[in-house]
This record gives sequence, C-alpha cells and structure tokens, in this order.
Amino acid sequence: MQSAASPLMPIPGPLDPVPVPRAVTPREDGRIDLMGLSRPQIKSALEEVGLDVKAAKLRSKQLFHWLYHRGETDFEAMTDLAKPMRGWMAERFVVGRPEVVEAQVSTDGTRKWLLRSDDGQDYEMVFIPDADRGTLCVSSQVGCTLNCSFCHTGTMRLVRNLTPGEIVGQVMLARDALGEWPKGNMGAANDADEDEDASQYSPDGRMLTNIVMMGMGEPLYNFEHVRDALKVVMDGDGLALSRRRITLSTSGVIPMMARASEEIGVNLAVSLHAVTKEVRDELVPLNRKYGIEELLQACADYPKASNARRITFEYVMIRDKNDSDEDARELVRLIRKYKLPAKVNLIPFNPWPGTDYECSTPERVRAFSSIVFEGGISAPVRTPRGRDIMAACGQLKSASEKKSKAEIKRLAEEKQAALG
Ligand code: SAH
Ligand code: SF4
Repeated sequence: MQSAASPLMPIPGPLDPVPVPRAVTPREDGRIDLMGLSRPQIKSALEEVGLDVKAAKLRSKQLFHWLYHRGETDFEAMTDLAKPMRGWMAERFVVGRPEVVEAQVSTDGTRKWLLRSDDGQDYEMVFIPDADRGTLCVSSQVGCTLNCSFCHTGTMRLVRNLTPGEIVGQVMLARDALGEWPKGNMGAANDADEDEDASQYSPDGRMLTNIVMMGMGEPLYNFEHVRDALKVVMDGDGLALSRRRITLSTSGVIPMMARASEEIGVNLAVSLHAVTKEVRDELVPLNRKYGIEELLQACADYPKASNARRITFEYVMIRDKNDSDEDARELVRLIRKYKLPAKVNLIPFNPWPGTDYECSTPERVRAFSSIVFEGGISAPVRTPRGRDIMAACGQLKSASEKKSKAEIKRLAEEKQAALG
C-alpha cells in the first residue's frame, strides 16, 4: 500500500538496525491490516480499493473511532456501517493484533506478554499496576543495536524496527487484556471529546493510564514509526492518552532529540547511568559517539523542558561501578551546571543470566539517593517489579534468544568496534 509506506529513516552512525521499509507488513491473504494507521492513511487505503474521496473521508472517520476508541476488530460489529459495506470491508481489510506467544502474571501483579509479529519476530511488553496508575512499558524494536553492557535486550542479535501497527498493537492488546474498551452503543460513545486529563485511573475505571517507551529497543532509532504510533495513541478520537502520560526513554541519540520534542512532544527520560566518560563508555557504548556534556546540553535545549515537565534521568545502580558518593556529587554538579529541571530515577540493577554486574547494596543506593536529594534534586529509588517473571527493567528478551556468555561478550565487542 503506497500511501501508508514510510520512507527508510537514515540511522545516524554505522550501526543500522535491519530496517522495515514499510509501515504495514503485507499479509499472505492480500488484505490490509488497518492497525496503526492514522485517519488520512485509512482514508487513502479506502480510496485505493475504490471508494470516492467523500465516502473514504466519512468511512475513515468511522473506522478510526471503531478501531482505537472502541477497540473493535470485527467489521460486522461496526453498526453504523451498512451491512453490505461491512462485508466489503472484511474482504479487503483486517484489524490486527500482535500474536500472543506467552502471557505471564507476577506475584506483584505485573504482567508480561511475549508477542510475535507476522514475520515471526518476538518482542515483549509489560504492564505495571500501581495504586494510582497503570503503566504499559512498550517496545519499539525487536532487540537493540546499542548493546549497553548492563542490559539484556542489548544482547539480542536480531534487530528490526517495529511498525506503527506493532507499536500501537501493544497498547490495543493491553486494553483487550484488561477489558477496558467502552461499552454501549455508538450514540452514547462520544466521550472522545472528554478532557484529556479525564482519562484518570479511577473515574472511568481504566487501569492503563500511562505509557513508557522503555521496553525493547531504542525509540529514537525508530523515530518515524514511534512518532506515528504515538500520534495515533494521543488522538482524542481514539485511545486519547494525554502526552503528559507518555514518556519516551532514550539512551542519548542526540541528533533526534529536538525532533522528538517538536514532532512528538511527550515527556523525556534519558538513560544517563554514569557521570564520567570512562564509565559511561562502558555502560552505554553510544557515549563514545555522543558524550555526556553534549547530551546534557541537548536536554537543556529540549524545548519543552520546564519545571512542570521535568526531564527524568535514569540511573541504574551497579555495585562498585557508578554508585560512589563522588558519583552522586558529580551528578548533582552536572545537572546544576546545565540548569536542568530534572528528576533522577535510581534503578537497582536487575541481574540477568550471564551478566558480571551486581546490584548496589541497599545502603549504597540510600546514601546515593540522599546526596542527590540534598543537592535539591528528587531521586526516588525505583522498586523492581515483576522480577519473578523477568519483566523488570532491562530483562526483556525472548526465551528463544538465549546465548552463551562467550557469545554475548563477542557480540558486545563486535558492536563496540563498529561504534569506533
Ligand atoms: N533504549 C532506551 C529505552 C529502553 S531501556 C533507553 O536505553 O533509554 C529502558 C530502561 O531500562 C533504561 O533506563 C535502561 O537503562 C534500563 N535498564 C536496562 N537494563 C537494565 C537492568 N539490567 N537493570 C535495571 N535497569 C535496566
Ligand atoms: Fe538498547 Fe536501552 Fe538496552 Fe541500551 S539500555 S541496549 S539503548 S534497550
């Protein structure tokens, strides 16, 4: 389908993920999967199969509402389409969902899904319920090219960008699983106009209130698909999630940060993890290309940065690596130097099979947190969730991708050599 095709995005640096040169994965039966398409893209799809411009416009509006506001996948249930039209649509289109390979629930209520794409790629998503919110952790790629030394995802060999349909599909699937599509008839369903803040945890009984792009992959290396997917997610006639409830996490792809602010405009989280070149080069090899000071300047320039919408710095606490008092003081100094409206999330390192790193001791984490806090910066310690089902930060990786320690090391060396 030409109109929905997204051009290949040039990936900065020598490490190009295996790209997906299209926004829609073709199906064997020739039907087009509408999932992830915007209203204009649905309209073009309808025109391509023969509807005139006016009809396509009306139908695209109806379909958009059914797809993303009602979560409907069956054209027969779309009651404001004439009966013959429903059959006509079903012959040409489908409304897809990612295939669920495995669904697990942790003792703490965290849920993890292993998903499979039409072309057999596995990726994961995690839902984390809290007292006042429910956060869906969404993947942007299968694997990750960046190979941070403490991250399980970085050890996956296979990498491809997820399509907008696969990204939005995660949110749709979570809503399906949580059973939170609005019920009732179409006439009454126009709560699409509701104030964006009305999608609270309790008033309409919804559990999924927040989205973080912190699953597998580097979202800014799949910029266009992530942008298009999040636009669909934020559209007031569809899922209608407020941009204030969405956070994009990057390991520091500086050249894409300004565009992320302008074209997506969601909250930004930056995976800092270290305050010296030596340590950050080891933990986040991308640091060799885009250094700490440059990264902090890009954060200061992130145009939407303000006290109301602070930048979150993620800092994974690794024993004897990045967790000294001196590191904490340097972190405060750097954040002050760039006058950043910032918050630091301290994440206890989650070990995974084959890693040499260990988590900092609880006393160390507390001491570090106090120093940052006394420096005037909020530094909460994140409680690991879903550890028993390997759903915690940085553990996402499909079981089918297990590799030996030697192989992980060799891959890391290859990727680091490529980064120069
Ligand atoms: N690629 C993006 C988003 C996905 S990673 C990024 O790096 O920001 C999401 C978060 O999980 C990052 O802050 C990452 O540093 C953290 N993480 C990765 N592996 C981890 C581990 N083993 N323990 C704790 N946090 C980890
Ligand atoms: Fe990729 Fe983020 Fe993991 Fe680094 S921490 S390897 S950027 S997913």
